[in-house]
Amino acid sequence: MTKRADPSEAVLSTGCTIRQALRWGIGALTAAGVDSPRLDAELLLGHVLGLTRTQLHVHAQEEIDRSAAEAYTQLVRRRMSREPLAYIVGRRAFFDLELIVSSDVLVPRPETELLVEETLRWAELWQARGKLHIVDVGTGSGAIAIAIARHLPEALVWAVDISFPALMITQENARRTGVQGRVLPIQGDLLAPFKGPFQVIVANLPYVPHHELPELMPEISLYEPSSALDGGTEGLEIIRRLLPQAARCLSMPGLLLLEIDPRQSQEVCAMIRQSLPRAQLTVLRDYGGLDRVVRAEHSLIPDEESNP
Ligand code: GLN
Repeated sequence: MTKRADPSEAVLSTGCTIRQALRWGIGALTAAGVDSPRLDAELLLGHVLGLTRTQLHVHAQEEIDRSAAEAYTQLVRRRMSREPLAYIVGRRAFFDLELIVSSDVLVPRPETELLVEETLRWAELWQARGKLHIVDVGTGSGAIAIAIARHLPEALVWAVDISFPALMITQENARRTGVQGRVLPIQGDLLAPFKGPFQVIVANLPYVPHHELPELMPEISLYEPSSALDGGTEGLEIIRRLLPQAARCLSMPGLLLLEIDPRQSQEVCAMIRQSLPRAQLTVLRDYGGLDRVVRAEHSLIPDEESNP
């Protein structure tokens, strides 16, 4: 291998080691502007070889065969065009699960785990009162619904989405994680298919202002489904449509959890006050310290103002 050889040719050449393949991948991904080039190169090569990142390092001096080198080169090229890693490997970790993802669904984000944590916290208090009925609106991959169902063995979780291809992924994830039968995929527009009552309504709806979509990272703007991101002119159109339906379907006691754009927390609280005037509102921050979830609780305990 000469110093001037095309790096991709070097990878394909016979006798290429894991270490060399990684070095090439890291260089190529760095040049393409990928945020975490080393991690991504390792995950892609690990995916091709069926090895963990640790195993890659243990076997760094070993050679990879030509077909593996070619497959790896292809995947690195896809990542160079900024396709999300999760779509390339078809998997994404969420909460304590590994989920299937495709470009029909949004890649589950770590901050969305807050919705699950908050649901579980609330359910601990109320589960004693019987079987919980929960709905995840705009379920996509089913991440929220499935994580909740796995941790609340008594709960029934409806997983609604307007996108049929997304629901195929939901269904597949529910099957693979053993919660089919308790996660119920339904095609529909928000809560239109339901009468309720639900004890918990949880939703990560599209909330990106339409004009901001092209400014997002290429991974998002070029590859993720805009129908899962586009919240209309100000980003609030879908959430605004949900709220009257949520007011109709939420039980007492009940919990409504909405993921939001951090800049929208006051506006969303004001909108919820219109639809659910008796709800107690809290804004929760994500790991980055940004307002990310609005929590509205319908409580049996009257608040002090209404009961002096
Ligand atoms: N958090 C997403 C982003 O990366 C937006 C998700 C949504 O619109 N629900 O922009």
